[in-house]
Amino acid sequence: MQTHAQVVVIGGGVVGCSVLYHLAKFGCKDAVLLERDELTSGSTWHAAGGMHTINGDPNVAKLQKYTIELYREIEEISEQPTGLHLTGGVMLAATEARFEWLKSLVAKGRYLGIESRIITPERAHELMPLLDPACFVGALETVVDGHLDPSGTTHAYAKAARKLGATIERHTKVEELVQCADRSWRVITSKGEIRAEHVVNAGGLWAREVGHMVGREHPVLAMEHMYLITEDMPEVAAINASTGREVIHAIDFDGELYLRQERGGMLMGTYERAGKPWSEDSTPWTFGHELLSPDIDRIVPSLEVGFRHFPAFQKAGIRKIVNGPFTFAPDGNPLVGPVRGLPGYWCACGVMAGFSQGGGVGLALAQWILNGDPGFDVWAMDVARFGDWASKAYTNAKVRENYSRRFSIRFPNEELAAGRPLRTSPIYDRLKAAGAQFGAAAGLEVPLWFAPDGVTDSFSWHRSTDFATVGAEVSAVRNHVGLMETTSFAKYTVNGSGAASWLDRMLTCRLPAPGRMVLAPMLKEDGRLIGDFSLANLGTQGYLIIGSGVAEEYHLRWFQQHLPSDGSVSFTSLAGGMVGLAIAGPRARDLLARVTRADVSNAALRFMDIRQLPIGLASALVGRVSYTGDLGYELWCEAGVQLHIYETLWEAGRDLGLRLFGSRALNSLRLEKSYGSWAREYRPIYGPLEAGLERFVAYDKAAAFVGKEAACRERDAGGLRRLRTFIVDTDRTDVIGDEPIWFGEQVRGWVTSGGYAHGSGLSVAMGYVEREIADSEGPWSIEILGRRFPARLQRVPLFDAEGRRQRG
Ligand SMILES: Cc1cc2nc3c(=O)[nH]c(=O)nc-3n(C[C@H](O)[C@H](O)[C@H](O)COP(=O)(O)OP(=O)(O)OC[C@H]3O[C@@H](n4cnc5c(N)ncnc54)[C@H](O)[C@@H]3O)c2cc1C
Repeated sequence: MQTHAQVVVIGGGVVGCSVLYHLAKFGCKDAVLLERDELTSGSTWHAAGGMHTINGDPNVAKLQKYTIELYREIEEISEQPTGLHLTGGVMLAATEARFEWLKSLVAKGRYLGIESRIITPERAHELMPLLDPACFVGALETVVDGHLDPSGTTHAYAKAARKLGATIERHTKVEELVQCADRSWRVITSKGEIRAEHVVNAGGLWAREVGHMVGREHPVLAMEHMYLITEDMPEVAAINASTGREVIHAIDFDGELYLRQERGGMLMGTYERAGKPWSEDSTPWTFGHELLSPDIDRIVPSLEVGFRHFPAFQKAGIRKIVNGPFTFAPDGNPLVGPVRGLPGYWCACGVMAGFSQGGGVGLALAQWILNGDPGFDVWAMDVARFGDWASKAYTNAKVRENYSRRFSIRFPNEELAAGRPLRTSPIYDRLKAAGAQFGAAAGLEVPLWFAPDGVTDSFSWHRSTDFATVGAEVSAVRNHVGLMETTSFAKYTVNGSGAASWLDRMLTCRLPAPGRMVLAPMLKEDGRLIGDFSLANLGTQGYLIIGSGVAEEYHLRWFQQHLPSDGSVSFTSLAGGMVGLAIAGPRARDLLARVTRADVSNAALRFMDIRQLPIGLASALVGRVSYTGDLGYELWCEAGVQLHIYETLWEAGRDLGLRLFGSRALNSLRLEKSYGSWAREYRPIYGPLEAGLERFVAYDKAAAFVGKEAACRERDAGGLRRLRTFIVDTDRTDVIGDEPIWFGEQVRGWVTSGGYAHGSGLSVAMGYVEREIADSEGPWSIEILGRRFPARLQRVPLFDAEGRRQRG
């Protein structure tokens, strides 16, 4: 066995083999895959081999599309058949709510280049004669759906990788991973040692055990999963004879079932409600090519629906039931990418749909390892979307929930209950008593809105029970003053002799003077956004960076990767140690003046000023800035005094019309200002010019900030698209995100976010459109749940376009 490698991939399942193939394809000649047994010895060998492009998340849908398109390529290079059957398929809706969801998927497919169409139950029956059309209200027909042979596919990746120069060592178990002083890895195996620059954890069922070798508990858990295969069915033979084709795939969401032909019979699998975790604490190394005992009782409720929806099954004999384990992350998406604090250690685990996603995972990871960037938007599968807060018990609760809801609808206003509350701020109980309806962001409870007694969210694609109350919260902010909890933001401090020059290189803006704040985009080498922050200069206290809470781990990883090695900069995440409150609205200054002895007049505390001020008996860092676009202040304090400051503000604000508001009202308010937000408008696929952030890019500053050359090129060439705000002429439905934007009869953009701007009484959508048409009068329209609504371009912010309120 070789003693050195650029990359060691641990695990020869479909994912590890895809990673190896992509490394070899992109020219890495020195990649070796180590498999403790034979290839496919984990989940891979007993998979049902189904694959489809459609996914609720557009970026995951893109990587599934890539994966399926790859199979011909690896077949050609390897000369190993993958057993590819591209049958096409139908996705079935038994309820109107599900049908609306299917319509939104077709709409998304329009800008992703995924071909699909809405059809009637009768047409679905013509395409897939085993279903009973009376059980469904509508369906979606997909073109690129099918199945393949899991073993053949894995071997095709492996052979293709070998042909391109990669090496595979079977029966070679990785037993220990030790990082050396030069950051390389000692990979200690059952057959000797390899020194590697990079190691990839593609350990599948053993991903946790491989994680333990580097001292990490990756948030993955295996669940048992069952599918049955019938004896040959005459109905199947009849369909094959009359169409000359296989029976096409079907997904019956309301039955929680998927179906496909298997030889002369059918395969039916289910994500049952009573899902069962497998090997909750550790996966035995002795587990190999084994199946688990079937537990038919668990899947009976789903099968009963299945036998009703597909009546031919009632007479079919069952040939076998397969029960096998495979792993999930808490939200069901893969865990891919570098892990903070472990240079050269990479994850490619938690891939629950290896045959739909494995190719995209391999592509992203290989590009990331070799080029320093995954090459496309991988946020939905980035391992950094989970921080240390994602404990083993949290993972267990979430994975069970995710499995049992695999085919359930998640409405845009629906918050899932498992694993909560986990992280709470000191005023959680007060907010709860005031009616707060919470959502969870990175494990932290965040107030969404404050419900009157007896009112709760009713889940829907349309405006719901919160509509009037959120409107009243917005009105309180625009006309009086509102109070909001802001703990969910990420907070970082930067200190040390090198702090200023380092920040100058990391961020695109000019550094603020002491006591001032600025908006601070951050770019990658390719000139695309990797963060947008508020940066405050706290004078002798160093710098404070405020950023997106859900991206805290992601940004920490980036900042830490770029820290100078000479110790001149100290970078700290304050996490829950610093908590926040914000007040906003025309009476916000009056309220602040009542709780502090400091001068907070417009001259003493200007827009974008930041000061440490006494508040009641305590003190807080007060920044004059507000994401509402109104006169407003953010108050940052240590956790221990948040309750005191909250009560002090509350008492002082009673006669000013003070009202609590939540993040739904905040969303409504920021839309009126066309303010974008991280992970929606600002993502690592957009340049600052495209995102309308160019005024925060100091193209001419002396510091060679990361991404400067590329940003200058974007500025000169103009970029491909522009972020725009639209007013949508809709009725009771607002955009959610990912809807297509039509220009005349062509889809020329997509929505990033939106909602109802209560202050203006208008439905707003923000999104990207092609640059050439970005300032055109249209005709524009936006497709929501299958209906096109006229839209018009909103060229200036709806609220206070001159910014008088926030500056006045
Ligand atoms: C019943 C069932 C049906 C399924 N149906 C589908 C389907 O229709 N479509 C679909 O896309 N997916 C399906 N899946 C899921 C699919 O099987 C997984 O997504 C996929 O197999 C994950 O592959 P992997 O490479 O990540 O992990 P694994 O297949 O678990 O591979 C990991 C490999 O790593 C090796 N390994 C681990 N630790 C070490 C070590 N220390 N040293 C050396 N080697 C090591 C193991 O031996 C193993 O071979 C199904 C799964 C099950 C159980």
